[in-house]
Amino acid sequence: VNTRDHPLRVDAVIIGTGQAAPALAAALAQHGERVVVFEGGALGGSCVNVGCTPTKTLRKSARVAHLVARAAEFGVHTGTVHIDFAAAMDRTAAVVEASRAGLTRWIEGTDGVTVVREWAALAGRDGAQFVVQGDHTTVVAPRVYLNPGTRPFVPPIPGLADVPVLTNENVMALRERPEHLVILGGSYIGLELGQIFRRLGSAVTIVEAAPAVAAREDEDTSVRIADMLRAEGIALLTDTQVERVASHDEIARATLSIALQVRDQSTDAVQELRASHVLAATGRLPNTERLGLASVGVAVDDRGFIPVNGRLETSVPGIWALGDVNRRGAFTHTSYQDHEIVLANHLGGARTADDRISTYAMFTDPPLGRVGMSERDARAQMERGRRFLTASHEMQFVSRAKEEGETTGVIKVLVDADTHRFVGATLLGIGADEIVQVIGAMIAADAPYEVLRDALPVHPTVTEFFPTILGKLKPLT
Ligand SMILES: Cc1cc2nc3c(=O)[nH]c(=O)nc-3n(C[C@H](O)[C@H](O)[C@H](O)COP(=O)(O)OP(=O)(O)OC[C@H]3O[C@@H](n4cnc5c(N)ncnc54)[C@H](O)[C@@H]3O)c2cc1C
Repeated sequence: VNTRDHPLRVDAVIIGTGQAAPALAAALAQHGERVVVFEGGALGGSCVNVGCTPTKTLRKSARVAHLVARAAEFGVHTGTVHIDFAAAMDRTAAVVEASRAGLTRWIEGTDGVTVVREWAALAGRDGAQFVVQGDHTTVVAPRVYLNPGTRPFVPPIPGLADVPVLTNENVMALRERPEHLVILGGSYIGLELGQIFRRLGSAVTIVEAAPAVAAREDEDTSVRIADMLRAEGIALLTDTQVERVASHDEIARATLSIALQVRDQSTDAVQELRASHVLAATGRLPNTERLGLASVGVAVDDRGFIPVNGRLETSVPGIWALGDVNRRGAFTHTSYQDHEIVLANHLGGARTADDRISTYAMFTDPPLGRVGMSERDARAQMERGRRFLTASHEMQFVSRAKEEGETTGVIKVLVDADTHRFVGATLLGIGADEIVQVIGAMIAADAPYEVLRDALPVHPTVTEFFPTILGKLKPLT
């Protein structure tokens, strides 16, 4: 046991094994450093355990169920289809377990890296170095990297705390299919999970307080997403507040034992929803309050996130914040890239997150792929004199989409009218999560759109339509 009087002295401490930590620890160790990594929960953080990996795994079961239900359209007759919900969940658990086990083997087996399975916090200074205090272990180091991630925010709705609320952290433990799943929050996580559970056979209602689902997207994109989900039988209540939640004791043995009183904010109409399960997908809170940040003076913002500069340095030299807590992105790929930035700079480079282009996907089926500006962003910039070109193409006119029988969606691109550089793209449709990265690469290469317009595509793919689309560019008005 290392005490405050006899601490372990190393070159760097990492708190939290989010998506930046393992790769950073391994790379620093490869450069000869001794690194301690603290993890109080499950190794691998949200993505591996309760985020990307389980949702994208279960999504496949949902997609198979969806395709089987459509099989006759493709000339395939399957007979009676039975969805084994527990088996789908077990498959998900097995993929998560394998992923976590692989990560654990790698990081615990890396020479120079010591993984300490304890919650940890900064606990002041030892001279010019920082003291990090775990449950039992004390470590002193000149550099500390914070990668503690976020957790689900459950809104303070009267009665909600008295019913068993699901979040992304416990929903994958279900082995019985919810009869009626009510999801609070119609943003990316709520929409992904809603479609998955609907396809696995649950009735699903999504309640969203904003006037649209995926409200950060352009209005036409939100409408398309809503139409697509409603067509699968998901009830979407937008502009709707949950006022009260109650568990009906008298019907406790009935499956629909949770009552939610909801109010439509535009009409003021009140209705009661009866749910078997309620899942909160209403935002995330940073895991920073127990990090001992005040003991060394690391500043946080009013929501508890840790402001950083482009080099991801906090207000205290020698302490960096990586991943979702620095608000430079809320994705695995942004967290992973954070490790590349701090590592490159540690080794004498000059990388920054300031030039990061927002890039992400929402893994509904079909997915939404997004890079750079939305049309709303572009219009805001037009007020400051910028000019843009835009073009769009409906998926129903894409031959590959027709061949696949998956014609939902649209491709929209935005180009700077003066520089001819892409500034953004929104793709909703088959393969959009992959295809959008073509535009991301064009932006990263700082190449004019004509390069893509004149490049040779493969037929039949969705990507082959970029030259056609770029031939239709018109000023954004
Ligand atoms: C349902 C869901 C689906 C998602 N799907 C996607 C997706 O498809 N693609 C995508 O890019 N992103 C997705 N995300 C987001 C993604 O999971 C996160 O952006 C990603 O995990 C990066 O998080 P992070 O590195 O900040 O830390 P996290 O992954 O949140 O990990 C932080 C770790 O730090 C540990 N920790 C915290 N405090 C301490 C402490 N004091 N001491 C010791 N350990 C501590 C925690 O236990 C945790 O293990 C999804 C998220 C959710 C919730």
